[in-house]
Amino acid sequence: MRNLSQLPKCHLHLHFVGSMRGRTLIELCRQKNIKLPYQLLKSSKVMLDPSQRGWHKFQELYEIARSCIDHPQEIQRILFEAVEDDQLEGSRRLEIQVDPTTYVKLFDNSYEKCVEFILEQLQAASAKFGVEVGLIIAASRLHGGEHALKLAELAAKYADQGVIGFGLSNDERVGSTSDFVPAFDVARQAGLILVPHGGEILGPNSLKDIIEKLHPQRIGHGVSAVGDPQLLREIVAQNITLEFSPVSNLHLGVVNLYKDFPLHKFLDAGVRCCLNADDPLLFEHRLLYQYVVAREYMRAVDSDLAQLAKYSIIGSTASHESKRRWLKEVDQWQTV
Ligand SMILES: [Zn+2]
Repeated sequence: MRNLSQLPKCHLHLHFVGSMRGRTLIELCRQKNIKLPYQLLKSSKVMLDPSQRGWHKFQELYEIARSCIDHPQEIQRILFEAVEDDQLEGSRRLEIQVDPTTYVKLFDNSYEKCVEFILEQLQAASAKFGVEVGLIIAASRLHGGEHALKLAELAAKYADQGVIGFGLSNDERVGSTSDFVPAFDVARQAGLILVPHGGEILGPNSLKDIIEKLHPQRIGHGVSAVGDPQLLREIVAQNITLEFSPVSNLHLGVVNLYKDFPLHKFLDAGVRCCLNADDPLLFEHRLLYQYVVAREYMRAVDSDLAQLAKYSIIGSTASHESKRRWLKEVDQWQTV
């Protein structure tokens, strides 16, 4: 069996807080005297217990983790560790999502200073570990369209300086997609890649709405498209990449078992799709394990895994030169 950590791949869907190592969170909590709930601390590992799964529990634990980050040095540490962990798992490029809203207070309430600090740290981590990086500024559905517009304008300002995309995360059931159209228009005009979440909790109609109104190039999850053949054809026709994260889907109850994840239906339909960790802090596993799960539970053979890796490369915002090199490396992996 070919070694999956040696399979060249890009990591397109990873959230800043959720990227944190469990050990790091435990250490930060000890330093700050923050008591972790038992769901987050199981045998010295941090994870969301599958028996506790579901969106609200996830949200609650996420907020606790977020509250531990109250110094720029901690932002630096988390970014460096995320890039290092990607490097260890064969990732050639990490496109990480950050919603700067919570952290501006650590930078004299300046969004610009916050983004500049994050970009600086990402560049330094990239140079240290040899993994390319890109920053996606992500708005939260919970904060509404007006705040999203403010973040899109911020992202647009740094479009040539390392910010590569604009996202929309959090509970899909909150707010109307139309509320976020002005923000996505600004991000599109700035040349940013548009990567909203969708089709994770809600069904195909909500996903259609997101595609029609926000015109994304990639969608976080998008699993619910499987129930609508016409939508699948549309996703293929528009070359939209779906950022799957089966481990996240299992923990949040999107699928009940790994083997239920409809990977082959998407691959057979010709959908560009790739594998991602999403929030490894809460789901225990990082990028590599998504490929392991696909191999062990979804009957993905090495050519399927290579195809998923290629889609992650093609769907990234890397340069043509980097993409060409990595795609060649994937072919080489298959000949080993
Ligand atoms: Zn996500």
